Amino acid sequence: MLRFAAVLLGVCLVDSVQAKPPNVVVIFCDDLGYGDLGCFGHPTIRTPHLDRMAQEGQRWTEFYVAACVCTPSRAALQTGRYPIRNGMCSSRRRVLFPDSKGGLPATEVTIGTMLKAGGYATHAIGKWHLGHLPQFLPTSHGYDTYFGIPYSNDMDAVKNAPRGRARFNEPKIEYFNVPLMRGEEIVERPADQHTITRRFTEEAVKIIQARDENPFFIYLAHNLPHVPLFVSDEFTDVSRRGLYGDVIEEIDLSVGTILNTLRTEGIAEDTLVVFTSDNGPWNSFRQQGGSAGLLRDGKGSTWEGGMREPTLFWQPGKIAPGVVMDMGSTLDLLPTLAALSGSKLPKTTLDGHDLSPVLFEGRPGPRSTLFYYHGAEVYAVRSGMYKAHFKTKTSYVGQKEAEVHDPPLLYHLGHDPSEEYNIAADHPDVIDAIRRLRKEHEASIERVPSQLELR
Ligand code: MG
Repeated sequence: MLRFAAVLLGVCLVDSVQAKPPNVVVIFCDDLGYGDLGCFGHPTIRTPHLDRMAQEGQRWTEFYVAACVCTPSRAALQTGRYPIRNGMCSSRRRVLFPDSKGGLPATEVTIGTMLKAGGYATHAIGKWHLGHLPQFLPTSHGYDTYFGIPYSNDMDAVKNAPRGRARFNEPKIEYFNVPLMRGEEIVERPADQHTITRRFTEEAVKIIQARDENPFFIYLAHNLPHVPLFVSDEFTDVSRRGLYGDVIEEIDLSVGTILNTLRTEGIAEDTLVVFTSDNGPWNSFRQQGGSAGLLRDGKGSTWEGGMREPTLFWQPGKIAPGVVMDMGSTLDLLPTLAALSGSKLPKTTLDGHDLSPVLFEGRPGPRSTLFYYHGAEVYAVRSGMYKAHFKTKTSYVGQKEAEVHDPPLLYHLGHDPSEEYNIAADHPDVIDAIRRLRKEHEASIERVPSQLELR
């Protein structure tokens, strides 16, 4: 009945959305786990603003990124393509580093490029990690403005910083000589990481308040809760979860501040806000990393904890509130935003689907398959409720060599979301079908040189 009502409601809603392209805000965290928000079940982290966003919008429980580490995950979000198609992944060097010479190729169309061509004002804030040289920065990829740290906040470690975990146990700003950039200029180095969450939020608020008649797109990619963990004075020692919780609670306030700005400005109903993260929690950092909840493993692995993210969609009066258990992916954001804004899709192979019928009409999701890449290799495939692992490698550091599985391990993610009970022996037909899907997908890939290996 609810779904029927949503369908009826959706018919007129979609018309109104199409009549006026919505503003869009994508909030993308770094290394936030599936279980780290109150609305996703965390017992000791308080996230009242995200919980309200979930209540007013849609909470997606099966939403994925396309890679289990930063750079390829971000490339997939921006382009709607598996990173293997544009060289933004590697099995040897899994992300870009400050000595990297590569980045997102100029031939790639980002969400920024697409929406700018459609008349949007486009703004990138926070972590980019798709190349820090001028030709790869957001301002070369469709964004009018950029304010942020161009790669991870643990990079550029200075020579006398403590080694190993000690560097992160009591981190100091001066250990990490990361640049804060405005446009293509470095404006602060090392960036004062205590205040980046607050300053990124203030930048977003300023952009919203200074908007003109054109729709805007804000890509707000927080550098946190990636280690080293830093918070402002206001959030020091506020969370029962400790420093990691402090960081999440500050991000929660950031989300609340942005949503309240949209409400105060009277444009909440005209603005789609998406909240998610780039990969799962960095388990090897123990309590300084997050939690994937009941999902297995975390960042760097193709178990669910590495690639399934806590995801919210919000546009009051347009998106019917609810919990969506259909599959979705950051790969789907570009085609979805193309549909909502009336933009032309890039003329290239896309791996995403338009989710707007699910968001606005309560229809079933279009996605039935996901390929779980580890570097440049497919380690696992999901088809419907079944997931087959051809290879597994646990967490970011730890297990040195991947374990090969033939026949693959098979799990039913509905009955067994924690991937505990291998049922391969009972379903040879499912395994055959998944093998075929993988073959077809791999046959569609034209290999290009890896950008991540250039230095
Ligand atoms: Mg990350």
